[in-house]
Amino acid sequence: MRDKLEAIKAEALAKIESAEVVSTLNDVKVAILGKKGELTQVLKSMKDVAPEDRPKVGQMVNEARQAIETALDEKTKSINRALRAEKMKRETIDVTLPGVKKLTGHRHPNQIALEDLERVFIGMGYEIVEGPEVEYDKYNFELLNIPANHPAKDEQDTFYVTKDILLRTQTSPVQARIMEKGNLPIRILSPGRVFRADEVDATHSPSFHQVEGLVIDKGITMADLKGTLAQWAKEFFGENTKVKFRPHHFPFTEPSAECDITCFKCGGKGCRVCKGSGWIEILGCGMVHPKVLRDCGIDPEVYSGFAFGIGLERVTLLKYEIDDMRLLYENDMRFLDQF
Ligand SMILES: [Zn+2]
Repeated sequence: MRDKLEAIKAEALAKIESAEVVSTLNDVKVAILGKKGELTQVLKSMKDVAPEDRPKVGQMVNEARQAIETALDEKTKSINRALRAEKMKRETIDVTLPGVKKLTGHRHPNQIALEDLERVFIGMGYEIVEGPEVEYDKYNFELLNIPANHPAKDEQDTFYVTKDILLRTQTSPVQARIMEKGNLPIRILSPGRVFRADEVDATHSPSFHQVEGLVIDKGITMADLKGTLAQWAKEFFGENTKVKFRPHHFPFTEPSAECDITCFKCGGKGCRVCKGSGWIEILGCGMVHPKVLRDCGIDPEVYSGFAFGIGLERVTLLKYEIDDMRLLYENDMRFLDQF
């Protein structure tokens, strides 16, 4: 009996010692100490042992059981410790590895051009004012000296919501709204989205942006308009930029002019950007028509003013030498990432 117990114990301890995973230890536990385990079988065969030897055998069984349980316990702890150490090693953070870069995005080229443009005029004391994109006919046309039968109204191919409400075709209605309030003098810059029923091509889009400027005060003349735009052109396109004014017609200004700048690319010699002419057509402008002033409640005998309208996309395309307006709206990251 003693030999048998020693053999069971020795075999169990050897198995425990060589175990590499916890599941092996569980198998050993069941095989030796379980209900049908070898040690349990020994206890069950106590009835065959002489009564005077039973306490002794009982003690030996207990000692063997104790030894095996202790060994199991220690081996389980040691395997778990090793597992944890290995896991720690595997999960160590290498602080010298480069980080994963998060894309934060950036400003759209149109927005960059707009902010550059606004900065120049804010520097001259202009206030940035925005108006509604859905506008009354009254502000978009009527108050700007464009009556119902005026050809400009047809030419502009407007998106009408109702007979009197439309998607504004220009940022000029903001002028009328501000003048109507009657807080003089006025010095505003009004950027915003405008809409025309144009087919999409390299230079047209049914939705684009304008930046409108308006100054109303006593004694404002064409010289103020020219000086303002000349200064803007220098600050925006470069110190050597010159401006040129050509007579034009707009219903809401009189006299009206189109303003060209010397090509910022070639300095006026002629190149691809200026199509060889040395000049680039940049905006429309003029002195606010006396009728517009009067209709908006301002006395043209006392006050005068000028207005100009810049096509934001036109400026952006020029500034970055982009030759297709559609690129600005396609949201292709390969294109936008260049700015
Ligand atoms: Zn040029």
